[in-house]
Amino acid sequence: MKAAASASPARLVSPRFKYEVAARPGGQAIKACFGCGVCTAGCPVAEVDAAYNPRRIIRMVLLGLEEDVLTSDLIWLCTVCFTCYARCPQDVRFTDVMGVLRELAVERGYVHPSFPARLKAMDDLAQQLRLGAARSLARDKAAAGPPDPGDLKRLIAEAGDKT
Ligand code: SF4
Ligand code: SF4
Repeated sequence: MKAAASASPARLVSPRFKYEVAARPGGQAIKACFGCGVCTAGCPVAEVDAAYNPRRIIRMVLLGLEEDVLTSDLIWLCTVCFTCYARCPQDVRFTDVMGVLRELAVERGYVHPSFPARLKAMDDLAQQLRLGAARSLARDKAAAGPPDPGDLKRLIAEAGDKT
């Protein structure tokens, strides 16, 4: 796999690619994308990795850049948080589209068949760690008891002194 999903002029274009994606469960609405970029603007992965851009990935699929998309590491970075899914004005359901791209990458031999299962095991572990951290935070808050209204009044008075 390679690191960045970017159009490479040397590669062949596959006009069938978008139809193949659209024919699969989850990929049906890809052709409705009008490139507004709302998906990218709200994506937590795009926020930390500028190379990850859902709008661009969709565009590449629509242009038929099959090999560029399916060999890219970027299609494995989605955390399946569904933010883009919820916000898309065209109901493209990019989270599901990404599932289709991953399926195709495995079927066409761009990644080892065991890769999605290993990725899922890592996702499950990360989810357990997040849950553990949230529970521990909730326990700490419960142990600390309700906030003291006197503390709040003192903070407000101190803030007033500084203005
Ligand atoms: S939010 Fe929807 S319509 Fe806009 S670029 Fe993303 S997938 Fe396309
Ligand atoms: S589901 Fe994936 S692509 Fe969509 S916002 Fe979340 S991380 Fe980004």
